[in-house]
Amino acid sequence: MVVTTNEEVELLRENAIIVSKTLAEVAKHIAPGVKTITLDNIAEEFIRSEGAVPGFKGYRGFPGTLCISVNEEVVHGIPGERVLKNGDVVSIDCGCIKHGYYGDSAYTFPVGEVKPEVMDLLRRTKESLFRGLNMALTGKRVGDISSAVQDFVESFGYSVVRELVGHGLGKQLHEKPDIPNYGRQGAGPKLQEGLVICIEPMINLGVKNVVQASDGWTIRTSDRQPSAHYELTVVVRKEKPDVLSTFSYIEEVLGPERII
Ligand code: MG
Ligand code: MG
Repeated sequence: MVVTTNEEVELLRENAIIVSKTLAEVAKHIAPGVKTITLDNIAEEFIRSEGAVPGFKGYRGFPGTLCISVNEEVVHGIPGERVLKNGDVVSIDCGCIKHGYYGDSAYTFPVGEVKPEVMDLLRRTKESLFRGLNMALTGKRVGDISSAVQDFVESFGYSVVRELVGHGLGKQLHEKPDIPNYGRQGAGPKLQEGLVICIEPMINLGVKNVVQASDGWTIRTSDRQPSAHYELTVVVRKEKPDVLSTFSYIEEVLGPERII
């Protein structure tokens, strides 16, 4: 949506902070031996304690509060009995609704000791998100965000998922415009002052192709190599993008040694 009042911005910021804090709460419990459904329950309880409701639960029939996607799973994994193992990477996407507005944020966490090449994928995917966020300036175009993400990650030989993209956010979870993580500088719709968007690079270590699992939800890489996903919400502004959500709560939990 395009925010026109400070009140709207602050309501969206409140949601953005709730999902940011929920991911931090979940981060406290991520470890080898933990079931993904346990993380989901922690998230739901926390969101409700903040006076919000889970944004994904029931969305087009999705059963969880979180989308939990492990290793080769890119997004939309369903929480369940799967147990996290040492060396996994787990992408957690969280949505909430409060005052009729959405929050939506994602972070990929290492579980125990993760291979250096996969840690690099995580770190660089997160960096690509910030490169995209820096382009969220009035008068720039969607392609300026897309190309900032794509050019950075492809320089390391990674590939950008095409089928799933960032989006506008507001009273709906997915609003116009789409924010692809691939594209050309100067192309696409102009970014309007006050536009609220989620930027969410989904970056694969191997090929760009993805397939949907038989559960009807989970998207995984076709070559079964790992994928990473980070997401924040930003308001397009003239001078400086106003980033509504934050990874700072997560990073406080992870501590200096485990920050990606
Ligand atoms: Mg999300
Ligand atoms: Mg999103």
